Amino acid sequence: MSSEAKERMKGNSCPICGKETFYQQGTEKNPFFPFCSERCRWVDLSHWLDGAYRIPGEETLPARENADSEKPDAEEQ
Ligand SMILES: [Zn+2]
Repeated sequence: MSSEAKERMKGNSCPICGKETFYQQGTEKNPFFPFCSERCRWVDLSHWLDGAYRIPGEETLPARENADSEKPDAEEQ
């Protein structure tokens, strides 16, 4: 058995709250693994998004005028 498989068998700590969480609980797979719950998964996701939106050196560009985007599709027959 590979060490990776062993890792899946044993418990893991939720990266958000530190609670023990399992890849598989009884016969059911934990859909939130490696998090203990949906809440912790969302907390992690929001952290990730928060970081992703703050890209250093990149300023928010003003919205372009999209007057040209309302061209009729004349090419279809
Ligand atoms: Zn948790």
